[in-house]
Amino acid sequence: MQKGASAHQLKTVKERIRALGYRPHVIHGETRQVIGAVGDERGKARLQGLQSLPGVDSVVPILKPYKLASQEIKSGKSVVQISKNVRFGDHKVVVIAGPCSVESEEQIIATARAVKEGGATMLRGGAFKPRTSPYAFQGMAEEGLKLLAKARKLTGLPVVTEVLNPKDLPLVKKYADMIQVGARNIQNYALLRLLGKARKPVLLKRGMATTIDEFLFSAEYILSEGNDKVVLCERGIRTFETATRNTLDLSAVPVLRQRTHLPVIVDPSHAAGRWDYVPALSYAAIAAGADGIMVEVHPHPENAESDGPQSLKPANFSAMMEKLREFARVADRDV
Ligand code: PEP
Ligand code: MN
Repeated sequence: MQKGASAHQLKTVKERIRALGYRPHVIHGETRQVIGAVGDERGKARLQGLQSLPGVDSVVPILKPYKLASQEIKSGKSVVQISKNVRFGDHKVVVIAGPCSVESEEQIIATARAVKEGGATMLRGGAFKPRTSPYAFQGMAEEGLKLLAKARKLTGLPVVTEVLNPKDLPLVKKYADMIQVGARNIQNYALLRLLGKARKPVLLKRGMATTIDEFLFSAEYILSEGNDKVVLCERGIRTFETATRNTLDLSAVPVLRQRTHLPVIVDPSHAAGRWDYVPALSYAAIAAGADGIMVEVHPHPENAESDGPQSLKPANFSAMMEKLREFARVADRDV
């Protein structure tokens, strides 16, 4: 739309897009609004007629196969707001910290207090866990969600937690401030569509064998259902290397930055698989331009039900945060 196009003009264009059999998606830019018309590629020539409507600046086909996620539809960065103080894609780097799994009230409250003290701005913790073995601890389910809500109440930290199964989405949505889609579910398109309808911020983790383009297509599934609050998370991919659990693909950060307006964060814990590699990878993530990091922290990693070896103790997390602040400053960011 032209700069200063009126609300009425916007409405008329949206109605016309619907009448042509497409779905309008309004993208709010700093100086102007862009309306994405999403639908069947084949009839798109009909959209050219919108050019003559009042308030329309131009009608441009988006060439990238993923459209709403692309830099073509919105250049620059989107900001995804979680709470009053937590915004992904802004000047401040978001630090999400917490245990792999919620295990008990004592464990999650102690961790939440410790990571807040260390400077984390968001709490993580799984209540539904995707485990490689069906015999491993699968999470506390609703009980775990309730404990996360309690930890949020005590610390003020918003919480992000994973949904595994589409049928649990209403439950997870009730408790979470942000819903995580894990690496193993990134191409569960039915789940992605439901999250698109759910209108809750989504933390979308890259799959361990997902290309950057496939990653963006998965984000597009959520966006195309009307949810524009999507944050991407690089968490390591499978390579021939066995010294680390995965290989952190840091180059994904600048590549994504160039291809999409969506915020990008890095999870060094699942990439490394070892706590002692996590600080270096966190600093590197900030240098690469990440909008945040997500790290696993546990008060007693040796007793953790899941991912103990990659979990930082609170004291190590705090020490890392001290240094992270300096790296952020050099990268023209704040923590
Ligand atoms: C997690 O965040 O605990 C997790 C299971 O991560 P991923 O899906 O990236 O393996
Ligand atoms: Mn984990």
